Amino acid sequence: MARYTGPVCRLCRREDQKLYLKGERCRTSKCAMEQRRFPPGERTFRYGRPSEYAIQLREKQKMKRTYGVLEAQFRKIFKQADQQHGITGENLLVILESRLDNVVWRLGIAGSRAQARQFINQGHILVNGGRVDVASYLVDKGDVIETTEKMRENTEVKKYTSLAKQRGLKGWLDLDAERVRGTVLRDPERSDVDEIEFEEQLIVELYSK
Ligand code: SF4
Repeated sequence: MARYTGPVCRLCRREDQKLYLKGERCRTSKCAMEQRRFPPGERTFRYGRPSEYAIQLREKQKMKRTYGVLEAQFRKIFKQADQQHGITGENLLVILESRLDNVVWRLGIAGSRAQARQFINQGHILVNGGRVDVASYLVDKGDVIETTEKMRENTEVKKYTSLAKQRGLKGWLDLDAERVRGTVLRDPERSDVDEIEFEEQLIVELYSK
């Protein structure tokens, strides 16, 4: 599957917001947003306010980059969100939150969503006892997410899960840190996404043109 392989801190600097793409480093003073909080590339002064289109585009890019989804897949998810009942923008976020790579990261099994995708692709993640190697797999209420036995003993994984436990999990997830086993207690809600500010309505407007 195609994926972005360029420098990731550049993406946060472009969006002028921490997107938490690099695991624990993002929470330290080594974060590029702490040290070089200006857009990447040549510095040019732009006159006037950005256009409505530019603002909508940036919002879409921010969400795509946060969840590590490329354009074609993001459009597909948007279409799915649009076909569901309720508010399209909120549906979009709920679908993205339900992705297995996001859940593995939220549970603290991996340090970042990118690392979670790596674990999934390498077959280290089990859902309800069966191996799932598709990062876009959508979890459901009651699903149990765990790692293979080998990964359970991995010191990095142990460190990530204990840090996640210390920071506190989102209310829709539960984690048995000893067994590195997470449970989906309910569907995620819009209010569960609070570490990054998204204006999802702007994305709906962009795709509705
Ligand atoms: Fe880099 Fe993480 Fe900081 Fe973003 S939040 S700039 S990915 S260290």
